[in-house]
Amino acid sequence: MKRAIYPGSFDPITVGHIDILERSLSVFDEITIVVASSSRKTSLLQPDERVELVKDVFKGKRRVKVDRWDGLIMDYARERGSHAVIRGLRAASDFEYEFMMAAMNKRLNPDVETFFMMTGQNYFFISSSMIKELFRYGGDISPYVPPLVWKRLKEKRKAGDL
Ligand code: ADP
Repeated sequence: MKRAIYPGSFDPITVGHIDILERSLSVFDEITIVVASSSRKTSLLQPDERVELVKDVFKGKRRVKVDRWDGLIMDYARERGSHAVIRGLRAASDFEYEFMMAAMNKRLNPDVETFFMMTGQNYFFISSSMIKELFRYGGDISPYVPPLVWKRLKEKRKAGDL
């Protein structure tokens, strides 16, 4: 069985993430989405809430697992015996960071290969950071996130939690 992990902050999960995941399922039998608490980004949702939303999005899909990890992804891979990591590439701007991260990860854990999936044509401009910004200033993010994520964010905003 070919297994892979798909790590990211998923804050929140977007249709761009879902596209990468669904297309990767034609290559891998089982993919675990690993929700990491990113130190680089200001967060919108707490990691546990992101995990819960990702689980809801993929409910009933037995080939998709969801997990949370707060440390180095390469340590997660070692602990779980994973040998493949999926990452998405949108623009040239993603490339430099991803390229360096893949190189560093290879040094941290030589047993793991990074697989890059090119973004879907309709998703190249969608990033969680952009969605967060849009949401914070009252923009309509509904085309870019799954309906249940949109619903949850609206509820939280109404309750004054965001
Ligand atoms: P983001 O980079 O959107 O703030 P993540 O850290 O959650 O969010 O991203 C996890 C992975 O998914 C990264 O490899 C990222 O490049 C990829 N990804 C995110 N959005 C897209 C998209 N629209 N198309 C392709 N890959 C994407």
